[in-house]
Amino acid sequence: MELLNRRTVLKAAAAAGVLLPGLARAASSGTEVFTSDEAGLLVDSTVILGETSAVVIDAQFTAGSAAALADLIASTGRSVETILITHYHPDHVLGLPILLDRFPGSRAVAHKDVQAMIARTVQPIWDRIAANSPAGVFADRAVIPEALEADHLLLDGARIDILGPMHGDTDLITPVHIPSLDTLITSDVAYVDTHLWLEENTSPERTALWRASIDALEAIGAGTIIPGHRQASSPNDTSAFAATRAYLDRWDKALAETTSAAELKAALLAGTEGLGFALAVDRSVAAIYPG
Ligand SMILES: [Zn+2]
Repeated sequence: MELLNRRTVLKAAAAAGVLLPGLARAASSGTEVFTSDEAGLLVDSTVILGETSAVVIDAQFTAGSAAALADLIASTGRSVETILITHYHPDHVLGLPILLDRFPGSRAVAHKDVQAMIARTVQPIWDRIAANSPAGVFADRAVIPEALEADHLLLDGARIDILGPMHGDTDLITPVHIPSLDTLITSDVAYVDTHLWLEENTSPERTALWRASIDALEAIGAGTIIPGHRQASSPNDTSAFAATRAYLDRWDKALAETTSAAELKAALLAGTEGLGFALAVDRSVAAIYPG
């Protein structure tokens, strides 16, 4: 509870533009997790804390979410060494210019295969989403991270292992394992307390690949699990694996048993009233029944 309270306080302070140096000194290592609101698609960014600097995993969607993440990072008193982007989806990438502007000494990187995907897609995605939104909702430009050849980063000598790429809600995702912290950042291989983004998983063959990735991550045995999407009150534990499997089961069953967009949507919504990321439901249904 102490960590949750601290996070809540830091988020409130960040929202108010207030730095809390006394609180910031309390954590000399570990992680801070920022979870955006529903408008920001409930996406997690993780700040891995070193003595004086930090590594940030994923960069948020909207400019507002990225700025709030930047405030949280600033409140820790750390500089930012590296920002790792785990996959090409805009909810993890589009906030990157905000972070680079706030922390000019940092560099953005992605696994070389992920980087190649981002290099192909980020500008068209920015053109489609940001250019059609009111000024200021999204960053004013798209940025392509550098390709990372290594399979890990080092922070004060501690390994930050970059796994995969593996299949989750898209083909090329790199979860992150920090053995010294017993912590696994699943990115979009696992969600908890939200709907899943399924438009790239429209067949049982694809969802089988996703389940295999969940199995591989669970086998690592980490105690702290930070999912790709969740609600701010959700736990950082292994329940994310079961939650993701259960939703994939629901999806496969609904695909097999329904024959219209309305039926499919109803099947996804039945019994899932408490889940966040509602946008994902319509996008998943539209992938099966376009137009
Ligand atoms: Zn995502």
